[in-house]
Amino acid sequence: MYLFKRAADLREALGQEKKAGRRIGFAPTMGALHQGHISLIQAAKAQSDIVVASIFVNPTQFNDPKDFEKYPSTIQQDILLLTAAGADYLFLPSVAEMYPEGVNGSHPHYDFGYIESVLEGASRPGHFQGVGIIVHKLLDAVEPDDLFMGQKDFQQCMIIKRLLEITGSKATLFICPTLREPDGLAMSSRNMRLTPEQRVTAVEISRTLQWVKDNLADRPFPELRAEGLARLEKAGFVPDYLQLASGSDLRLLEAPENGPMAILVAARLGDIRLIDNMTAGR
Ligand code: AMP
Repeated sequence: MYLFKRAADLREALGQEKKAGRRIGFAPTMGALHQGHISLIQAAKAQSDIVVASIFVNPTQFNDPKDFEKYPSTIQQDILLLTAAGADYLFLPSVAEMYPEGVNGSHPHYDFGYIESVLEGASRPGHFQGVGIIVHKLLDAVEPDDLFMGQKDFQQCMIIKRLLEITGSKATLFICPTLREPDGLAMSSRNMRLTPEQRVTAVEISRTLQWVKDNLADRPFPELRAEGLARLEKAGFVPDYLQLASGSDLRLLEAPENGPMAILVAARLGDIRLIDNMTAGR
């Protein structure tokens, strides 16, 4: 695996690969890698000729500076995992490389419309603008044919779909299923920060989602939401939201509708904010 720290050098190397007719697959990450990330690399290997991963903890998408400071970093292990998974290139830029204009410099503003205003957008002001800024920069550096992201960040996938339209990127977005721990907890870099007690409690988030999903056809959703939130609180979470939404446009729903839907949850355990979702309907 080749490691690049500068966008210009990466662009040049990937230019050679493209000239040779190879299809470039790209999986952006913030590191502290787990099997969920590795599943994106595996999907990219199956679809593309060359697999590029990036690791960059993007300051502009953290609305809470403490969350940014405490974000886990396991770079040595990440490099081993990516090499073992067969990634061809790792882009590992510095903050100065990605933000020559300065983190607080002037950045584009993206019109993501409604999808930026709800759920994570409502709870984390500016978060999706930060995601848009960095993914736009990464797409400029890699110019992938295929882009791999996880359903774990359901709303982020919708934002990126819109970003690809806004920027005129030709990349095809592949949304990969959420990998879970054996007990059902969605894999997440933030899980590393959970205490052993919190780790036991954390499973309640996926159990609650599954319980809502199992009862969706039989009980009014507002009742399920109220009980689900109470259940999370009882387990020790400070819940943020538990919502049912259209899977195509993220309209919040009070009752199931025909077509794809998602049940989405965000809740805090101590100072660690966890999100998860499950799809429902078809
Ligand atoms: P992150 O490093 O958290 O920014 O995540 C990088 C990419 O990995 C994003 O596209 C995430 O949606 C994806 N991802 C994170 N957790 C999982 C998981 N448990 N299963 C599958 N993909 C994931």
